Amino acid sequence: MCVSARSETATPPAAVSDTSASGSIKRYYDNAGLGRQDGDAIDQLNAFMTKQAHKVWSPDNEDYKVYEMVRQGHVVFKRRSMPLLYFYWATILVGLLRTPSLLFLAGALASTYVYMELYSAVLHIVLDNPAFIKVPGLDQPVFEFLAHHILPVEIAQRRYRDICGDLNVIVGLIFAINLLLFDWMKDGRVMCVVAAGGAMAYLGQFAHRQAHMPPSKVSPFARALQDAGLLVSPHLHRAHHRTYDRGFAILGGWSEGLITTLYHHVVPSQYVWLALFAVMTVFGLAGVVKIYIPAYDAFVAFAQ
Ligand SMILES: [Zn+2]
Ligand SMILES: [Zn+2]
Repeated sequence: MCVSARSETATPPAAVSDTSASGSIKRYYDNAGLGRQDGDAIDQLNAFMTKQAHKVWSPDNEDYKVYEMVRQGHVVFKRRSMPLLYFYWATILVGLLRTPSLLFLAGALASTYVYMELYSAVLHIVLDNPAFIKVPGLDQPVFEFLAHHILPVEIAQRRYRDICGDLNVIVGLIFAINLLLFDWMKDGRVMCVVAAGGAMAYLGQFAHRQAHMPPSKVSPFARALQDAGLLVSPHLHRAHHRTYDRGFAILGGWSEGLITTLYHHVVPSQYVWLALFAVMTVFGLAGVVKIYIPAYDAFVAFAQ
């Protein structure tokens, strides 16, 4: 398999393992060795990783590659460009508003939701793989995903906009690819679908963050979506953090059976997953556009 399961004791206590308890927030944070943070936690999280890297670094440690990079001076939790993020969000808002009808918008959101559930799982499988930590372009994302395994609480402590900023490169890449493929901003309907794809990427970040939140911090709205199975459940995501060989989808989690079966029994090669990730990154959203718009037209023609 791509990623070997880890022993229970080899990593610092996973804070996520305590989110099922109705216990205090303090315990949740204490288990990660961190004090409670109300504001920008990036410096403290990086300081924690540096301390850990010097304390437990050893070639025998399963997180050796991550700690080695930290010791070499690589920064795990980066400050991403907020102006760029807000530019993407504004672009997405404009795109969604260019929908010809509410029905088209609802269909665009639903179809990109389904697609992003699958894409999030494929991306997660690839970026959880330590074998790809030296692959140019994948090095920093893999480094960050593996660091998240060491310190799951980071996603609850950093601000939501910082978590969204982690997508700056890949969202920019996907937008640029779609601009090259079919000048997506010219056609309102195409722009709406691509924008919906971008919105679903940020919903995925929201879902993952909520899955790590102490129960008392999950908003009633998010909990209702979790209970409805539209956002990944803390229970399923906790299972991911125990063995790292299941629970890859971080948007809704409802593809768990399909993805885990493929991962364990159908697609054993890590390079096939890598190729699938590359193909989906380049052509995935374009594929949704090509399928959804004709399907919508056919539906409208049928309904008239
Ligand atoms: Zn993971
Ligand atoms: Zn997680």
